[in-house]
Amino acid sequence: MNTAVTITLPAGIWREGICHREASLRQLTGADELFLLEVGESLPMAHRVTALLARCLTALGPGDSVTSEAVRSLTAGDREALLLHLRRLTLGDRLPCVLSCPQPDCGKQMDLALKVSDLLLPPGPDAKDRHETALNENGRAYRVYFRLPTGADQEAAAAFARSRPESAADLLLGRCVEKVTAEDSNSEAVEDWPSAVARHLPAMMAECDPQAELTLNLSCPECGHDFSALFDTASYFFQELAGSSRFLYQEVHLLAFYHHWSEAEIMNMPSQRRRQYLESLGETLGEERRR
Ligand SMILES: [Zn+2]
Repeated sequence: MNTAVTITLPAGIWREGICHREASLRQLTGADELFLLEVGESLPMAHRVTALLARCLTALGPGDSVTSEAVRSLTAGDREALLLHLRRLTLGDRLPCVLSCPQPDCGKQMDLALKVSDLLLPPGPDAKDRHETALNENGRAYRVYFRLPTGADQEAAAAFARSRPESAADLLLGRCVEKVTAEDSNSEAVEDWPSAVARHLPAMMAECDPQAELTLNLSCPECGHDFSALFDTASYFFQELAGSSRFLYQEVHLLAFYHHWSEAEIMNMPSQRRRQYLESLGETLGEERRR
């Protein structure tokens, strides 16, 4: 049995004017690890996150079943929150992390005592479906109407990011900004957006969906240099899994050999439990060898 936990999404899913913020997740199994090893590696990061969340979410919003479409429609921050919860469920709360001081004449390595629980922000009270903000340029006042970037936007941007990284940012703005109006022209939509939109909107979107971008504010213990670094949950988690899943086949073989469980039984077991069985088996075999 793989018990699911229920969490509250920071932004949530809007259906007919109602915001649904509940989601349930189960931890990874060997089958999910195998999927990541065989299929996941070839997918861009955003697509890999969609695929993994669609597998591990047991409930999402108002629908009966969890679809990839629904996972794509989640904001970047909701997807980040779900990944952090999934990481904690599967590999625990602690996130061992080593960083180097960016000062060229220092470069001191530091161990960070990061925890999933510290990176998860408390869900804000005022989740909104649509956002708007005021901008000024050359003495003209504008209003910008926008929505938050979703998984679908991240997937679309991923296609551009490799070949034309500068276009990826434009693409995201083009998809998420719904309308720009000028207040001196009867609030009519303007075709040519002021350049302030591209300058300010990314930061405003990040402010409305703070879980989407995790910035660590750090200070080097050696030289005292203050700096910030982005924590990318997807890269971190997938790299960890690539390491811990390396011996999946041997692990399945060992458990099948000693416990006579079927491959399917072992693969559908939560990964954490599989590792506990392997640990116990290792101890038993070690004791037998010592006798
Ligand atoms: Zn330093």
